[in-house]
Amino acid sequence: LKKKAKHYEEIALSANKAAVLGAGIMGGGIAYQSAYKNVPILMKDINQEGIDLGLNEAAKLLIKRVDRKRMEPAAMAEVLNRIIPTLSYGDFKTVDVVVEAVVENIDVKKKVLAEVEGQIKPEAVLTTNTSTISINKLAEAVKRPEKFCGMHFFNPVHMMPLVEVIKGEQTSEETVATVVAYAKAIGKTPIVVNDCPGFLVNRILFPYFGAFSMLLRDGADFAQVDKVMERFGWPMGPAYLMDVVGLDTGLHAEGVMAEGFPDRMKREFKTALDVLYEAKRYGQKTNAGFYQYK
Ligand code: NAD
Repeated sequence: LKKKAKHYEEIALSANKAAVLGAGIMGGGIAYQSAYKNVPILMKDINQEGIDLGLNEAAKLLIKRVDRKRMEPAAMAEVLNRIIPTLSYGDFKTVDVVVEAVVENIDVKKKVLAEVEGQIKPEAVLTTNTSTISINKLAEAVKRPEKFCGMHFFNPVHMMPLVEVIKGEQTSEETVATVVAYAKAIGKTPIVVNDCPGFLVNRILFPYFGAFSMLLRDGADFAQVDKVMERFGWPMGPAYLMDVVGLDTGLHAEGVMAEGFPDRMKREFKTALDVLYEAKRYGQKTNAGFYQYK
């Protein structure tokens, strides 16, 4: 492993300036993390409201740090200045790494990836934060698939240390090395994985959620299961975690996994997730999921 890390260090291109497409939950978080760790980042969205949301989220996290005396107010302004909001591709020629974090829709992503590829320098690396779409399928939209791979952050970005760097069939070693270097520069722990439904983390998480659903079906109480898993030592139980992720996102990802692994992820009955989803209880984003938030 050490040998591999050294090899990556030697072949990585520079990752001194980044760009993120989409200023939503993930894009805003990625912009904050990059700026906080001294890598300036352009943050592009399609409308000003999106940008304002992303900037507000970053500002909120920074204000918390200042309030807790973990940061000087002047440093806060410096971090915010490293997030460069934009509605156009104007400065994209100056960036080394792009993270696409627009909505989880293959057609929108393909269109955006093709568009941005035409705006960046040929040696720049293009990545996608997709949770479920095949990297090889998305690579069909670009002209330089060797410069393209997955860069899968977890929510909330500033708290979750892991990043999956997903290699497509045509991704070059140099591209992987550059994304690994960028992930490390912004304080994350990258792991390099191949392209398959669920990549690595969701292949572990979703069978766990499946086991949780079966427990509920057998009559268990979700809050008790959460307490047990917390006592077991995990930071949160499955019901609370699903509320954080979003039940809509969770069900979508589960569908993709079930399609990818039909023999292992068979779904034979309706679960509590379906019932909550039908009631539009999507989790914290709607203030109600397994738990009630307001
Ligand atoms: P979101 O809906 O919060 O944000 C998406 C943003 O993209 C919006 O601000 C929207 O205005 C913007 N957008 C749409 N089209 C655009 C375009 N053409 N150019 C620029 N911006 C555009 O979504 P999110 O939850 O941040 O998810 C973004 C991506 O990250 C998805 O692929 C999702 O699967 C992935 N992801 C999400 C999570 C999560 O927990 N939310 C975790 C890991 C990965």
